[in-house]
Amino acid sequence: MSTGRKSVLVVGGGIAGFSLALHASKEFDVTVVEAEFQPGYHSSGRSAAVFHIAFENDIVHRLSLDSESFFLQPPRGFGAIASTLEHMLIAKTPEKSRVDEFLDTWSQRCPWLRRVSRSEIVDRIPLLTDEYTIGALDVRSLAIDVHTLLDCYRRNVVESGGKVTTQRRLVALDDSNGQWTASFAQGEPITADIVVNAAGAWADEIANLAGVAPIGLVPKRRTGLRVHLDSNIRDWPMCYTASHSLYFKPEGNALMLSPADATESPPCDAQPEMYDVAVALDRLRQCLGVQIDRPSETWAGLRSFVDDGAPVIGFASDHPGFFWHSAFGGFGVQTSPACGKLGAELLASNLGSMSANVSAQEIGPERLD
Ligand SMILES: Cc1cc2nc3c(=O)[nH]c(=O)nc-3n(C[C@H](O)[C@H](O)[C@H](O)COP(=O)(O)OP(=O)(O)OC[C@H]3O[C@@H](n4cnc5c(N)ncnc54)[C@H](O)[C@@H]3O)c2cc1C
Repeated sequence: MSTGRKSVLVVGGGIAGFSLALHASKEFDVTVVEAEFQPGYHSSGRSAAVFHIAFENDIVHRLSLDSESFFLQPPRGFGAIASTLEHMLIAKTPEKSRVDEFLDTWSQRCPWLRRVSRSEIVDRIPLLTDEYTIGALDVRSLAIDVHTLLDCYRRNVVESGGKVTTQRRLVALDDSNGQWTASFAQGEPITADIVVNAAGAWADEIANLAGVAPIGLVPKRRTGLRVHLDSNIRDWPMCYTASHSLYFKPEGNALMLSPADATESPPCDAQPEMYDVAVALDRLRQCLGVQIDRPSETWAGLRSFVDDGAPVIGFASDHPGFFWHSAFGGFGVQTSPACGKLGAELLASNLGSMSANVSAQEIGPERLD
């Protein structure tokens, strides 16, 4: 039965698709389709699960600021989804200029950032080798429970009347009847007034199915590992080396780490390369003096970027029924509260009520033309 509301098909059941669907389901009949058997199977289920306000670029910074209160005081139906986590940039003496540069870039926007000495660094991470002498501390970072966050988004979409279906890989889009007809590898076609492209690394492929110009999305593989150390690491901060070649953070008794790799890749079910795993373990050895022969877990995921490193949110300039919600790089989880809301507002062309700290032009696809 028709509800008189426009119908929206969200392609992609990751954090981006669900966060937009949550807000959009107030005004639209929303269906989320996910190709895999479970939501979040790709990038959203493979992240480092952290939130930093001094991060990436000014637009990501403002979207993160707009998202912070959602994590600290989650709305009804979300439960606890974040906990405090200090974040420390650590540097060797010859890398001092990198700490200066970080503080020069971010201190005005994030006045709580402060320089820390060797003694403050080793107070927090006693295992750090002598080479690490300076750093910068961010006490406003968070660890996010991404599994719970994604599940809460999904449940709230369904409770708001949205539909969610998995194992529904979109294979064709036809707009010849003035409406989209979406066909899938399995199951019946779905018709919709608007298609939202939240397909992560596959977003340009979805545009191709719709006959819409691509945005030049570049997926980059990043490797994650979990290891166990013979030390109590529960209260460690997350650490990022100033050389941008290693980060690690405590996850209960385990240490999650990454060599911070960014290897271009076609969209795929990314897998960790043995080389990147070995590099990560070697860098951890150089940093903490610990020899780990075998990680307890390894994985890889794709972070997808356009040229300017900002997300792409808005209607395609070459099709009024095709909406981009893509290019969330390495910040899609932490900006999902603001981006989902902003995306739904733009989808409803409700510019007057736009809540975010960024303008439609700064994130719209037309900036890339
Ligand atoms: C190692 C690593 C660490 C990271 N750390 C952080 C972090 O600490 N903080 C942070 O904020 N971000 C982090 N990120 C980035 C974050 O994970 C991404 O920005 C975010 O998950 C992107 O969400 P998405 O929904 O756009 O993509 P995805 O989660 O990939 O969702 C897209 C979905 O679209 C589906 N899809 C594709 N094609 C089709 C089709 N034809 N039909 C139907 N469905 C389709 C896919 O199956 C997929 O599930 C990290 C990423 C990686 C890899």
